[in-house]
Amino acid sequence: MWIVGPCAAESEFQVKETAAQLAQVSAAAGHRLNWFRAGVWKPRSNPSSFCGAGEPALAWLSEVQRQYGWPVCVEVMTPEHVALCHRYDIHTVWVGARTAVNPTQVQLLADAVRKGNFTVLVKNPLVPDLNLWMGNIERFQQAGAHEVIAVHRGCPDANENVYRNAPCWDIPVKLRVKMPHLKIVCDPSHLCGSTKWIPQISQIALNYGFNGLMVECHHNPKQALSDEQQQLTPQEWGTLAAHLQVRTNAPNHDLFCQRTLLENIDTQISQLLLKRMEVVDVIADIKKNNNLPVIQPQQWQLVVERYLKPDQDEAYKQFVRQFLDLLHQASIERQK
Ligand code: PEP
Ligand code: MN
Repeated sequence: MWIVGPCAAESEFQVKETAAQLAQVSAAAGHRLNWFRAGVWKPRSNPSSFCGAGEPALAWLSEVQRQYGWPVCVEVMTPEHVALCHRYDIHTVWVGARTAVNPTQVQLLADAVRKGNFTVLVKNPLVPDLNLWMGNIERFQQAGAHEVIAVHRGCPDANENVYRNAPCWDIPVKLRVKMPHLKIVCDPSHLCGSTKWIPQISQIALNYGFNGLMVECHHNPKQALSDEQQQLTPQEWGTLAAHLQVRTNAPNHDLFCQRTLLENIDTQISQLLLKRMEVVDVIADIKKNNNLPVIQPQQWQLVVERYLKPDQDEAYKQFVRQFLDLLHQASIERQK
């Protein structure tokens, strides 16, 4: 399932040019778009950033919908947005990650879609909270939405330094277990924040058994008014679609999911080790400048004790001690 289109509808030309190029690529490559996406009201962090073209954009999108036969989907933050979509014959809306942190607002949106035959895409909230995401999904299901689809776009993480958001795959994997009939798609554009990582993350998502991808695509990404680093050209989308492999029927799918979770944790450990060394360098400078010794053993013993719990088995405790000692030795060598 493909949900493709610009981060934001910026102008009539941009919307129609992107749609025309996508139609061409899609016909040539044989990959069908299930929805054309575009933000009309953009929830931006900075108040002076481009915040969407507003209602006029709904008319452009409505034309794209008629011309190409793709349903259009738009982000809504208020019941008024839902009513406007309905007026322009747009019946798929999405709840963004920022709105998704506020259950009161999500309930207002659920009450608003009750009146129309809406399909609702529900992004995971900015906070890594599976119950909050599931609660939001249930609100729309209870409101009688035509269909509810979850969209995983990763979670902000202070430690993440490769992607814009941490992949936190364990959350959608758990969602799949708790709601096995729900379709889940991945939004690699907002997860990665850069086109560089989109093929890799998209393939991982398909390997996990996601039902599709929501990808940002602009006819001229360099000139985009928002998210210019992460939008593909229609041609790049065609290449991506041609190279991805759907492997959901692999017999060892569960094993694959667990292995990738492990790989994810290993990536985090290696990133943390690097960060730890950076802090060690700063500590070394402080000690040098203040004429303090490199080794302060009583300090280290306290650190080790914090990680050992009385109910852990002896073999595991031994492993943790050895691991932390190794880490400590490496830091001392570096400081020296
Ligand atoms: C978007 O899809 O344009 C968007 C704003 O996404 P998110 O809510 O995931 O940040
Ligand atoms: Mn965007």
